[in-house]
Order: sequence, then C-alpha cells, then structure tokens
Amino acid sequence: MQRIIAHLDMDAFFASVEEITTPGLSGKPIVVGATSKRGVVSAANYKAREYGIHSAQPITIARRLAKKAEQEVIFLGVDMPLYEKVSNNIFEIIKKHSNKVEQASIDEFYIDLSFLKTFSKAEKVCKGIKEEIKQKQNLTCSIGIGNNKLISKIASSESKPNGFLLIKDNQSFLNPLNIKKIPGIGPKTAKLLNNFKTIKDLSKLSKSELKNLLGKAGIKIYYSARGINNDPIVEYREAKSIGRQSTFEENTTNILIIFDEIEALSESVFQTFKESNFSKFKTITITIRFSNFQTKTSSKSFKKGIDNKKEFNINVIKLLLPFLDKRKNPRKKPIRLIGVRIENLDK
Ligand SMILES: [Mg+2]
Repeated sequence: MQRIIAHLDMDAFFASVEEITTPGLSGKPIVVGATSKRGVVSAANYKAREYGIHSAQPITIARRLAKKAEQEVIFLGVDMPLYEKVSNNIFEIIKKHSNKVEQASIDEFYIDLSFLKTFSKAEKVCKGIKEEIKQKQNLTCSIGIGNNKLISKIASSESKPNGFLLIKDNQSFLNPLNIKKIPGIGPKTAKLLNNFKTIKDLSKLSKSELKNLLGKAGIKIYYSARGINNDPIVEYREAKSIGRQSTFEENTTNILIIFDEIEALSESVFQTFKESNFSKFKTITITIRFSNFQTKTSSKSFKKGIDNKKEFNINVIKLLLPFLDKRKNPRKKPIRLIGVRIENLDK
C-alpha cells in the first residue's frame, strides 16, 4: 500500500505562543531563551530573525544584534508548562484526523494518512488541520506530505513559514537541495562530504563509496539521497526523562549559591513529575559543567523507584557533594552549569 505521511511543524513555536498569550506583543520581534547573561536563545520569531537572531545563539549575541537593530526586541524566559499545554491542544486537534500520530518533539508531529489512499485527500485533511490550529490556537504551522517521514519532514521545513508542500516526485524534489537538508548530515558529516553541494551530486556516490566514507551511517544517507525511507510512525512517545539545567551568572565554587540553584532545579523537576502521569522514577542524574566546559554526569538508580520529594532531594545532594570536594573536583574548578534529571519513569 502507498504510504502517505504528513509532517507538521509549528512555526517559531515558543516565540509564537508568547506572542499570542501576552497582550501587547503581537507583531513584535520576540526572543525566548535564557534570562541570565550566559545561556542561549531557545526560539526567535520571524520578526526577530530579520535581525540575524536565531535559536542556539548565545543570548549576549542576540542582545547585541537587537541593540544594533535599534528596534524594540522583547526578551522572555522559557515557560515550558505553557508550551506543553498548547502542544497538547495541537496534538488533540491532529488526533481527530488520524489515529496514528507520532509526536516527534514539543512542536513536531508525524501523521499517518495512508488510510486516505490519495494525496489529494491527504492535502485536504492537512489544510483543514492548519485551519483549525489557526482558528483555535491562533498559531501557524507548516506541513509537508510525502510517501515517507524523510520526505515529509524536509518538505515541511522547505515550506516554512505557514507553508504547505506536497511531494510526489521525491528525487526531483531532493536533487537541487543542499546535502545538509538530509537528517543525519550535520556539520561534521558535511565536512567529510565537502565536495558535494547538492543532493543530486551526492546521489552519484555508490552505496559502498558512502559506506567507506561514513561507515554504517553512509548506507542510510545513500537511501535518503534517493528519497527512500522506511522509518515507521512511532505512535506514542513517552517522556523518557524530566530534567532542568541552569547556567550560573558567574562561574562559582560558592556552596551556598550552588545549593540554592540545585534546590530550585530539583523543585522544578519534582513539580513537573508530580503533574505528569508517572508515579515513580528509578534514576536520578546530575550534570556538572566546569568553567573549562568539561562536563560530567553522575547517576544513581533505585530498584524500587522513588516517589517522594525528600528521598529525591537527599539523593540529588548526595550526587552533587563529590563535585564540591576533592573526590570529583580535586582542583576546585569553578562550576558553570548544573542540571538535574530523573529517568526511567514508571506509571
Ligand atoms: Mg517548529
């Protein structure tokens, strides 16, 4: 049977949600991200992107660009619970149209529409979903349709923002695109393939040539360059972990500051856990990044699982302490970032 897969990706999601929920922000350039001086941009709306601001950029650079633009750019902290709520609403809208939906991230969904049998019917349904999301949530998204996940994902990103793209001929769609459009070709792989600019160039390589160049990943890329992909729709993705991390205003060895922060992070993690459908967790992990960017994690697992805050807090502190003395930090390196995460969640 012919597969028909749609990929729906919300446009500038965090920033757009802020724009519609906070009065007075409509139409303004908005940047969502770290509130301290040392984090990164999580999302920027299209107005802000006009000034060169983009996600994953250090917040200080974003602020500098905003200043240079001499425009009022709104900087906001990340409000995850709000975005999760809106994401759930969107998921509910999508689920009315297909019972096989994969949530790939907070603002990204794969929808199996194979049961509709034709692309034109799928197009109609997807345009209906776009319309309903616009009407009910006042948000725009971009949707790509193809005969597999790879094609639909590239199509939605090519159609952004507020776009729609239906691909019937995979090869002619892919040919002119930059090789970096293929998922799995990051900066490192692109460097190894720097003689190839377009996917058409890349598709001249044989399977064994790609395998020699990139190892096993080369085989997947060989098929991707030809628009071939059989990845299944994974219907429901459980939250695998709940975590928070935070960068200090200044690198620190001050135990009081570190304890305050770990307490705030633990509180936030436990709060999210309490609001989730899970009843216990079996692993706690903490992350420490030192001033030289060396990053260490330390985990502990519990056979029976943990469900109470006190036990959680005590174990977080136990994991943290060695990083504050010579056991795991003999040279007293200042700490730049700390994080707390719980994993192996059980219903
Ligand atoms: Mg998005």
